[in-house]
Amino acid sequence: MLTLTYEYQIKPNRQQEEQMFFYLETCRKVYNYALAERKAWINSRSCAINSCSIRHEYIMRADAPKPSYHWQCKSLAAAKKDIPELALPHTHVLQQALRTLEASFVAMWERGHGFPRFKKPGRMRSFLFPQMGVNPVQENRLKLPKIGSVKMRLSRPIPDGFELKQVRIVKKASGWFAMLCLQCDVSIPSAMPHGHSLGIDLGLLSFLATSDNETIARPKFFVDAQRKLKLLQKKVSSKLIGSSNWRKAQNKVARFHEHISNTRKDFHFKTAHHLCNQAGMIFAEDLNLKAMSRGMLCKHTLDAGFGQFLNILEWVCSKRDVFFAKVDANFTSQTCPSCRTHTGKKDLSERVHSCPHCGYKTDRDVAAAQIVMIRGIVAVGHTVLKLSEGKDISLPMKKESPSF
Ligand SMILES: [Zn+2]
Repeated sequence: MLTLTYEYQIKPNRQQEEQMFFYLETCRKVYNYALAERKAWINSRSCAINSCSIRHEYIMRADAPKPSYHWQCKSLAAAKKDIPELALPHTHVLQQALRTLEASFVAMWERGHGFPRFKKPGRMRSFLFPQMGVNPVQENRLKLPKIGSVKMRLSRPIPDGFELKQVRIVKKASGWFAMLCLQCDVSIPSAMPHGHSLGIDLGLLSFLATSDNETIARPKFFVDAQRKLKLLQKKVSSKLIGSSNWRKAQNKVARFHEHISNTRKDFHFKTAHHLCNQAGMIFAEDLNLKAMSRGMLCKHTLDAGFGQFLNILEWVCSKRDVFFAKVDANFTSQTCPSCRTHTGKKDLSERVHSCPHCGYKTDRDVAAAQIVMIRGIVAVGHTVLKLSEGKDISLPMKKESPSF
């Protein structure tokens, strides 16, 4: 089963646009109500053991059921009778808002994300049609349930043999977009490990380093962009909140954010293709992104968008028939790629890896990338064969063939 997501710009007419804004707002209200319901239940179940709270107490029957996704869907259906507003959008669309909430609770329980928060007006930016009618795409028009036929810019054709499963409507600063989720029943075999191997190390000073001694710099654009962003934000704060000038200034900030994220994505795709040009298998560190973005370097890490890059790289690799795997990232910068001794912690300012045992000397990030590559090759079981040939692991700047 292969799933693709294609993004197209759509041009709703005025009435359709109003309808879409109304959908977003209703989804937001449903989301917030359901969140409040869950919050109240959780608070009513957690109280201090030895004291009674003085200010307030959540009173809820002892047998009140825990609000789950299915339970909330049922009460949503019941609420429709009393609140006619809820009957206007498609039922599935509202249920998806509840599903999003469920997903954010699961993310909190299982992956340690934060407690879900209420959404302010305008913060709900997309809604999802989980099911589509027959032949929803017809010549530059997309047929949406209850909204009707919307004009769409078919910037690229929908590939043959794919079926349209879901549509997510997204409101961005530059307009409305439809993300079409396309599915194909044919399963495509994943690439086998083959060819030249490449390890990559994602860093902060340079965007990434490869085991072939190449470093790719972080584009300067993002540094300049930060400056421009600050300027635009300053303009917003000088305007009267709520005035039309304030709204215009805010829209400019939002558009610029969108521009930055598009540019970043473009850079990630180009870098991924550049790497795929060189190798038959690519190994990357399995980063603990959460731990990384919490530290001092938080802002820079997030800006570099490592998580997005790894996802894009994985996707490009699968398209280009390049094997991709993640390996353990522990101590990559503390091990010598040549003799594999533990060289101890390096300070971030220390840019060169210089091994006290074997004298191997190279760029610090390149050394880490080489460790990643070695680990990857060991993991796919290519070790002995490739090493005896002495071709695939060619450590630069080292004459005798490595022994491990
Ligand atoms: Zn060494």
